Amino acid sequence: MPLHPIINDTTLRDGEQTAGVAFTVDEKCAIACALAAAGVPEMEIGIPAMGEEEIACINAIADLDLPATLMVWGRLTDSDLEQALRCNADIIHLSIPVSDIHLRHKLRQSRPWVLEQISRIISKAVASGRKISLGAEDASRADADFLAQVAQRAQACGASRIRFADTLGVLDPFTTFEAIARLRAAVDLEIEIHAHNDLGLATANTLAALRAGATHANTTVNGLGERAGNAALEEVVMGVRHLHHADCGIDTQALVPISRLVARASGRQVAFNKSIVGEAVFTHESGIHIDGLLKNASTYESFDPSELGRERRTVLGKHSGSQAVRQAYGRLGIALQDDALTGRVLARIRDHAMRVKQEASPDELRRFLLESLEVPAHPSHGMAA
Ligand code: MN
Repeated sequence: MPLHPIINDTTLRDGEQTAGVAFTVDEKCAIACALAAAGVPEMEIGIPAMGEEEIACINAIADLDLPATLMVWGRLTDSDLEQALRCNADIIHLSIPVSDIHLRHKLRQSRPWVLEQISRIISKAVASGRKISLGAEDASRADADFLAQVAQRAQACGASRIRFADTLGVLDPFTTFEAIARLRAAVDLEIEIHAHNDLGLATANTLAALRAGATHANTTVNGLGERAGNAALEEVVMGVRHLHHADCGIDTQALVPISRLVARASGRQVAFNKSIVGEAVFTHESGIHIDGLLKNASTYESFDPSELGRERRTVLGKHSGSQAVRQAYGRLGIALQDDALTGRVLARIRDHAMRVKQEASPDELRRFLLESLEVPAHPSHGMAA
């Protein structure tokens, strides 16, 4: 079955729920523009129940008239629906816990109460003429039969979508596949996967859910979000492309600039080795790898960095070989031909890497060469005189 996954990016909602992160209206508009320009078809942009300022921000984004479907988030309550209806959003998402743990300890309510709420409020929401999505919070820890009942009730009331939230990130790709396949068999609704990264599996689980029949995937730029965050936009887009051989319709060249924009606005730096967008993920040092890359890039790169508008980089360090040293000096306009000299330069580079834990600068490389050119005084020299 060919996949045409639809990304619903929630950087501006769950991403902003990252502890300590708050975007200004300008930042939210800039991020929304960048996402829409990259081809992100849907985005969740805020929580109307937070109040007037949030509603004004949501409507400011709506006023941009971006080529993207806009969603707002609320709880499945009358008052949250009322506030949501004051926003110019295309989809209203209303969320209710479905696990017994949440129902018992958080809301002190029963499963029948959940079904009643759906019947009453989803019906009312649908009657407003908006497209309605039901959020099944903590779906991953809910009873599977009850979850199916919840989804069927939502469908009967006219909802268009159900969001399966792995709120605590407790699934793996196998359990995700099973849960989504079961839900797929139970309803004809759009199914959206909302994965969290507590065990580092958010992207893997998102890809598994798409395989199992989910139609939509929630992502956040740089994997922002509550606790360990959500599935990263850049990872899901590239994973869908390279592992599912499908396309999300998103310009991969835009992923790095968007990552930088969100890193600045959120004040959350991207880890050096963060997949796809991290500074170091196309940087090579080891002599064996560089030798392979020079012969054929596919030996040590699973995809071409130019797909992301990026370039391969090599650094000199403890694991470098003489070929990389010659290359690096070549870039400085210096041809290193003598093997013994190259060996002495390499020894200095390795020593530097271990002491400084950083790549040598061009100036340092020039100095290493000069120092290596000075022929060391032969220890026996004086004695022979
Ligand atoms: Mn979440």
